[in-house]
Amino acid sequence: MDNCIFCKIIAGDIPSKKAYEDDKIFAFYDIAPQAPVHILVIPKEHIASVDGINDSNSGIVAHIFECIPRIAADAGLTNGFRIVSNCGDDACQSVKHLHFHILGGKQLNGEMA
Ligand code: 5GP
Ligand code: ZN
Repeated sequence: MDNCIFCKIIAGDIPSKKAYEDDKIFAFYDIAPQAPVHILVIPKEHIASVDGINDSNSGIVAHIFECIPRIAADAGLTNGFRIVSNCGDDACQSVKHLHFHILGGKQLNGEMA
């Protein structure tokens, strides 16, 4: 997808610190971390947001969640972590390529919003 930052990161046109990669997904460290460990997990296929998940692409979401425990463990998150996906303007989604934040490495705030 032209002009999508995360598609450019997948292509290697924008550098990133990789946490995990396979043929379907890419995980990398957030450039502005909001926790000691802050990783973004994204599908290589461009999907705009959670709103763009449907019958024909939901398998990639299942695959992301199958991989998240290993990505988190490899990043040292042995005492828990939080998964966040901002969808749309009210949630302050700033990059319109589906992504799941993995946040951890400290005791997180109990309030989510
Ligand atoms: P959102 O606000 O859409 O839920 O999350 C987008 C995230 O992407 C933000 O946490 C932001 O820091 C991160 N981000 C934006 N541009 C880049 C970039 O070029 N590289 C990396 N590693 N993270 C980015
Ligand atoms: Zn994209």
